[in-house]
Amino acid sequence: MGRSRINIAIDGHSSAGKSTMAKTLAKELNYVYIDTGAMYRAATLHAMKERSVVDTEVNEVGLRAGLERMFLAFKYNPKTEQSEIHLNGVNVEKEIRSMDVANKVSLVARVPEVRTKLVAIQQRMAEAGGVVMDGRDIGTVVLPNAELKVFMTADPETRAYRRLRELQLAGKDVSYDDVLDNVLSRDRIDSERAVAPLRQADDAVVVDNSDLTVEEQFNFLLSLARTRMADRT
Ligand code: C5P
Repeated sequence: MGRSRINIAIDGHSSAGKSTMAKTLAKELNYVYIDTGAMYRAATLHAMKERSVVDTEVNEVGLRAGLERMFLAFKYNPKTEQSEIHLNGVNVEKEIRSMDVANKVSLVARVPEVRTKLVAIQQRMAEAGGVVMDGRDIGTVVLPNAELKVFMTADPETRAYRRLRELQLAGKDVSYDDVLDNVLSRDRIDSERAVAPLRQADDAVVVDNSDLTVEEQFNFLLSLARTRMADRT
């Protein structure tokens, strides 16, 4: 009622290019981009620091208790011109992108209490409309009434290769095989978990971008967004 700005939910497989698309759309529409993966990664880093996650062992009791000591916030960084995630007052945007966090995050993200806490924050951020939110359960659980839902995917090798390039550009020394393993294992754990598994919302527009350029995809999604915005007025 009386809300002119729509919400856009972008879900999909790991490294399908969701954040690139969500960021570009948000910028074009003057909307707020919310990276929910960063929130799960920061929660994982918090659990690692508290030693509730060691290697791939999760101490769920410790993890749940630790949630009370976890404060997450996005703050705009004028240097990078992006909003970046802070964990208990510290900017952890870089730290959460490590392979170590990537290898643990799906194990933490399947703990129901973690999801309850993060979903509540995400829903509050979208209350007034005008957000582009990316993740795994945005169209299904977080924003089931989003005016536009997109499900992005690409074949696993394409995704692993793109991710590898991104990590190498950031100066990380990783192998293609390790990245492919991580992408496949996150897809599997994210799709098989009991709570809010990764799946397409029935009313999502599916985009397989294996053979699309970023620009082609952007133009397609922007026109969809504009149509949905016009539908509201
Ligand atoms: O989007 P990104 O790859 O950074 O997400 C990291 C991990 O966080 C995912 O593999 C998934 O386990 C978890 N996640 C989730 N629900 C979301 C966003 C991310 O479970 N909405």
